[in-house]
Amino acid sequence: MQCKDKVAIVTGGTRGIGHAIALMLAREGADICFSYLKNTEAAESLAQEIEKLGGKARALQLDVRDFEKSKELVETAKSHFGRLDIVVNNAGITRDKALMMMTQEDWHEVIDTNLNGAFNVTRHAIVTFLKQRQGNIVTITSVTGLIGLPRQTNYAAAKAGLIGFTKALAREVAAYNIRVNAVAPGLIETDMVAHLKEEYKEALKKRIPLGRFGKAEEVAATVRFLLSESAGFITGQTIVLDGGLSIV
Ligand code: NDP
Repeated sequence: MQCKDKVAIVTGGTRGIGHAIALMLAREGADICFSYLKNTEAAESLAQEIEKLGGKARALQLDVRDFEKSKELVETAKSHFGRLDIVVNNAGITRDKALMMMTQEDWHEVIDTNLNGAFNVTRHAIVTFLKQRQGNIVTITSVTGLIGLPRQTNYAAAKAGLIGFTKALAREVAAYNIRVNAVAPGLIETDMVAHLKEEYKEALKKRIPLGRFGKAEEVAATVRFLLSESAGFITGQTIVLDGGLSIV
């Protein structure tokens, strides 16, 4: 139980990758404060699942695009569980479109959620981490931030931004015993991918050397490694898990 007595924040915990990460953290002994946007039923069910695993959970319906609201996540983790050790920036959305069809709203919504959302939560958490001279941050970026998939200029820009954010922050806070890393998944079987057209999914699968999409649990396992003592010398890095899609 590598996270025993630790407290973690997970943004976007109700579904997909965030859900798998929250359950992984609970199995590792952490208490979890997670956020979601709309899905209250899923939030209640996740809180129950965490409690069944012996952890404590606190669900907060808040939009990570809102800087002030994001502070509530950090404050609730600290007031409710008494400490904060881990932040997983996971909340994200796509609004895939060819650039010539993309509206300003499509652009801003994606940048605000994926990139600004991670800034908002991390900006509040870092104050606590610096004071206690200890902390661990993992951000979920995407392989598209490295290779750029078509119809994802907004999403690729946000995810590439998160890779730069991870590198810069890792250098900035390393002296305070704070590690900052990112995970870049390829296509993972979640709601985000479920809505893609079948022909497009099949075409993408053909480009993946391992011939399949990944599982949310595989992303959670990589996050688990980055949070562990075995990864104690790793900071500022982005670990890619994409079945080989981005091999050059
Ligand atoms: P899902 O669409 O399955 O889940 C998204 C989660 O984020 C939900 O819990 C949702 O809450 C929450 N969320 C969305 N917007 C906000 C917001 N503004 N404020 C707070 N919470 C929000 O996504 P995935 O699990 O597939 O993706 C998780 C992360 O992994 C994202 O950052 C995504 O970009 C990244 N990723 C995913 C890949 C994939 O193939 N699936 C590949 C590479 C990266 P609610 O349930 O209430 O809507």
